[in-house]
Amino acid sequence: MLESLTDKPRKKLTILGATGSIGRSAEAVILGAPGVFETVAVAGGRDAKNLARVAKSLGARFAAIAEPGSYAELKVELAGSGIEAAAGPEALKEAACQPADLVVGAIAGAVGVAPTYAAVEAGRHVALANKECLVCAGEPFMRKAREMGVNILPMDSEHNAIFQALGGERAEKIEKMWLTASGGPFRTWNAEQIAAATPEQALAHPNWAMGPKVTIDSASLMNKGLELIEAMHIFGIEAEKLDVLVHPQSIVHGLVSFADGAVTAGMATPDMKVPIAHCLAWPHRVATKARRLDLAEIGVLTFEKPDFARFPALRVAMDALAAGGAMPTILNAANEIMVEAFLKNRITFNEIAKRVEAICELFLREGAAGAPADVDAALAVDHLVRERSAASLVGVGA
Ligand code: MG
Repeated sequence: MLESLTDKPRKKLTILGATGSIGRSAEAVILGAPGVFETVAVAGGRDAKNLARVAKSLGARFAAIAEPGSYAELKVELAGSGIEAAAGPEALKEAACQPADLVVGAIAGAVGVAPTYAAVEAGRHVALANKECLVCAGEPFMRKAREMGVNILPMDSEHNAIFQALGGERAEKIEKMWLTASGGPFRTWNAEQIAAATPEQALAHPNWAMGPKVTIDSASLMNKGLELIEAMHIFGIEAEKLDVLVHPQSIVHGLVSFADGAVTAGMATPDMKVPIAHCLAWPHRVATKARRLDLAEIGVLTFEKPDFARFPALRVAMDALAAGGAMPTILNAANEIMVEAFLKNRITFNEIAKRVEAICELFLREGAAGAPADVDAALAVDHLVRERSAASLVGVGA
């Protein structure tokens, strides 16, 4: 007898970061698969109106907003809906610990670490889109996940493609892993043009629609460096087995080569609904309305080596990956501050990588780059680096 999906108990989800770009795609996947999922709780940053809208649209019972000042507005927006409203960092943790089969960790930035980690500590399986859990606190984060028997499913397109390409094979049989990069809007620009790039130009990504911070990181290729660090932790693979391929069509998202010479690749049109649906339904699959891949129509897929001279941010990130310890934590925090400064026109595009490298070297010289013992220690390093990075910008471009 055929098993009907709707006869099965619905998979309970909590979405941390429900109002961001991942959250909106997750909402589309969930609404596109009626009867498969049940959304228990949603959490967002400061957009009370949008959080209330998504809470109602998904039928959540609990909605938490990070910004305490948005609590009153959230209560008004949810009035009469029966959905409980809460605000502040503890409310985000409360959302993360609701009884759910899977927690989507999609709050962008270091603020996403504490609630996602709370979900792991509560024994919830996590579909991870937040980079900082792995880049800022990868070692202690994954250690806790192993301790709790929690699955960390990669929701980022490249890592998800590799996860699918791996087909459950063990890390020791893997020779190499490649993450692809579209090359961003400046792939064909010369060094002088890149040096003069404005925030508007850097924000015009050719293939992916994402938030501003990750879009700038995609233009500098810092994003790919951060993703290598993520891959090392999530797949438990050595740094030297990881590499980057520039692939402007963004169809092949990740590749794995094995001891026997076989290579598998994860492919799809560049649409976040594909990796999101894979994580939400795993180990099953749900249908999505993502655009289908037509290779004959695309015709040609090209690959090239990254150019470290024009895109030094990738080299700076790979140095931090190789150095280990707290260097990835330092790199990530300094980069976030410098990207913000670039977006405010305070520093040039080239200065992002230069200043990030200078901060990394400063902490190394001071002997302050040892491996953080736990997630709190990693967050303390993150905080300190942000302060020092901001201090280094006082009077710059103001
Ligand atoms: Mg990515």
